Amino acid sequence: MSTVLIIGAGGVGNVVARKCVMNPQVFTRVVLASRTLSKCEEIQRAVGTEKLEVAQVDADNVPELVALIRKVQPDLVLNVALPYQDLTIMDACLETGVDYLDTANYEPKDNPVFEYKYQWAYRERYEKRGIMALLGSGFDPGVTNVFCAYAQQYLFDEIHYVDILDCNGGDHGLPFATNFNPEINIREITANGRYWEDGEWKITPPLSESFEYDFEEVGPKRMYLLYHEELESLCRNIKGLKRIRFYMSFGEQYLTHLRVLQNVGMTSIEPIEFQGQQIVPLQFLKAVLPDPGDLGPLTKGKTNIGCNIEGIKDGKVKRVRIYNVCDHQDAYREVGSQAISYTTGVPAVIGAMLMVQKIWHRAGVFNMEEFDAKPFMELLNQQGLPWHIKEY
Ligand code: NDP
Repeated sequence: MSTVLIIGAGGVGNVVARKCVMNPQVFTRVVLASRTLSKCEEIQRAVGTEKLEVAQVDADNVPELVALIRKVQPDLVLNVALPYQDLTIMDACLETGVDYLDTANYEPKDNPVFEYKYQWAYRERYEKRGIMALLGSGFDPGVTNVFCAYAQQYLFDEIHYVDILDCNGGDHGLPFATNFNPEINIREITANGRYWEDGEWKITPPLSESFEYDFEEVGPKRMYLLYHEELESLCRNIKGLKRIRFYMSFGEQYLTHLRVLQNVGMTSIEPIEFQGQQIVPLQFLKAVLPDPGDLGPLTKGKTNIGCNIEGIKDGKVKRVRIYNVCDHQDAYREVGSQAISYTTGVPAVIGAMLMVQKIWHRAGVFNMEEFDAKPFMELLNQQGLPWHIKEY
């Protein structure tokens, strides 16, 4: 018996709302709130008005959030708005004494730093208030952290090397589109690459390091080294770690478009004056690019995201690969979204299930690998994201 308040009615919000409604044994009441009410209503129409309540909220505004939380009285606020809203929603949860969950770390709009420091700074206040925040309960971060935690807790004595490989073998047939929010996606890709080795961060120019990897059920893909936020918590929480890196697949066509857009200044976050108005080029670009939410019916193929982990077990070197394959069209048939939103939304719902059932519950602010991985891994199999393990 629990009430969940979901904030954000984009691609991921759609999956989260539908999956919560599909689990009425855990979520007896589901409320979806976002900036644009009509987007919530569209999802409500798809699932049935009796199963999903909707509301309008500006999540940049703490008093508005507090008023909504007091009205709904949820057990948990599930934030799938944008990373910019993380702190205001965390503030509102603190004020009302309600647990919090998100899928991406806070990012100041004018400085894409991808650091947990802003949210970890809430630890003591959450502890004192007796509430919990679970950070990064998507796929990566999220499931990738849980895969590493599972390896640490059940498969290895010590882990030395982790490579997280995120491959999207899907094709939407459009010349250029991003799989999730274009502004967030492009900011992430155009930043310097960064990985952690021997206790320090190593910086690489954007998209400068790559290799080809042959993925199960997808085939060979070129993978590019990026910084990704789960590296920051995993390098602290995985014992004995010597190196951790993150790679994502990109096609040649995608990278060529991105290079041109960058060269002409369209990916910049510096505001410019245009016809008497201040505009941010990247935000304008987002407005003209396809909406990732519309890619669902177009996208064919599969994602394959997992962790290649090397370490020691019983004095011997051991190498294990843990991964999930998700089919874009299967995801679309089930919840009306492509696999990128699906692989983010389902783990968010699993995190919420574990929290409201108090299976994962402590006061404070936590990353995913700080809890027992087993119940999460079991729910992945039950909720549509089965995983595989193989030694290599
Ligand atoms: P979308 O842009 O599709 O959706 C974002 C939603 O948030 C929109 O409905 C938007 O409203 C709403 N929103 C934005 N600002 C506000 C505000 N001030 N108040 C209320 N609502 C607001 O993004 P996605 O669904 O693709 O992504 C959602 C989150 O998931 C992001 O934080 C993203 O970084 C994260 N993510 C995490 C992944 C992971 O694996 N961990 C992978 C992919 C995404 P409006 O419709 O009015 O614009």
